[in-house]
Amino acid sequence: MINLPIAAYLHIPFCRRRCFYCDFPISVVGDRLRGDQSGMIRQYVDAICQEIAATPVLGPALQTVFFGGGTPSLLSPNQLDRILQTLDRRFGIAATAEISIEMDPASFDRSQAIATRQLGFNRVSIGAQAFQDGLLERCGRTHRRADIDRAVADLRAAGFENLSLDLISGLPEQTLADWQASLEAAIALEPTHLSAYDLVLEPETVFGKRYQPGDRPLPADEQTAVMYRLAHRTLEAAGFEHYEISNYARSGFQCRHNRVYWQDQSFYGFGVGATSALQGQRFGRPRRRADYFIWLETPGAIAAACAPVTSDPADALAETLMLGLRLAEGLDWTALEQPFGAEILRSLQPVIQRYQQAGWLQWQGDRLSLTQPEGMLFSNQVLASLFERLEAIATV
Ligand code: SF4
Repeated sequence: MINLPIAAYLHIPFCRRRCFYCDFPISVVGDRLRGDQSGMIRQYVDAICQEIAATPVLGPALQTVFFGGGTPSLLSPNQLDRILQTLDRRFGIAATAEISIEMDPASFDRSQAIATRQLGFNRVSIGAQAFQDGLLERCGRTHRRADIDRAVADLRAAGFENLSLDLISGLPEQTLADWQASLEAAIALEPTHLSAYDLVLEPETVFGKRYQPGDRPLPADEQTAVMYRLAHRTLEAAGFEHYEISNYARSGFQCRHNRVYWQDQSFYGFGVGATSALQGQRFGRPRRRADYFIWLETPGAIAAACAPVTSDPADALAETLMLGLRLAEGLDWTALEQPFGAEILRSLQPVIQRYQQAGWLQWQGDRLSLTQPEGMLFSNQVLASLFERLEAIATV
């Protein structure tokens, strides 16, 4: 959908090691060099600032900024500050903006937490993933449980009130008891937000090469479904609102940045592999650093990535459905009539009715949403049927 961008995502593609399930665009920097000491990181900070400064301003001051990765906490406070300042000079950052950063446990100390807070970051997403040292080791993570506790304590001491923890279910050899223990340990740390993802086996990762879906020691599909339902029950009972398929928040602490994506709004993207959605065009930057540097130096490349594009209505509707149905509040169906037309929406009714009868979709007034937890658990199946219908209409 075309609207004015109010959010910016910045990809920081460095990690100390590559986790066994990860296919993100990153470079492994090892344990020694980080921040200003690393020539590779210095060069990248120059490049991302160059991209920001050359990108056309298409909207008002930014309401949300998200430093993701990778491990953004491997940058020095000076480097983070330089990127933030460049962003502020170019687009403006609203005084009330949500400014998030992903920080991995064991990748920072208390003084860095304090410096990060002082730069203006006001939300931290912590990659906890699990609370069992054996599981963390089997996933190739660099941190252990004690590092998670320390990270939270350091961030609190630095003045961060808005903390999110990431957890993963469906890991090799992860039992239901492990998952329950991780959920409880996470709740005990009193975050404002929790993300609970199901492991996705990506072909080019260590896990992807080691296991096939359904292989032992991966939990069976029925087991991961049980884990999903358990997370829903446990976190809701602890006072978290299940506001998106994989995300839970205390009241008032939904991630404003990610809501921009799910509401299909425009956003800037900067850096290796980052996607932007501007003027109707979704654009993914090169995923390798060398290719990104070449792209950056190509005359007209940045302007082309931000140029208006008219997309096919069926494709645009598919995108809106895929994103909007992730949210518990679902989609305002009447608001879709103007951009997409009543006819195409009407043609989806048989599919909607089928899944309504199955108990996976529901109407609340004019809003269509997935039920919780069952509809959300089987969202892929629901979306596949909706897309199939859209495709069938498009080929008539
Ligand atoms: S820390 Fe995150 S981005 Fe880095 S390798 Fe692990 S999962 Fe991937």
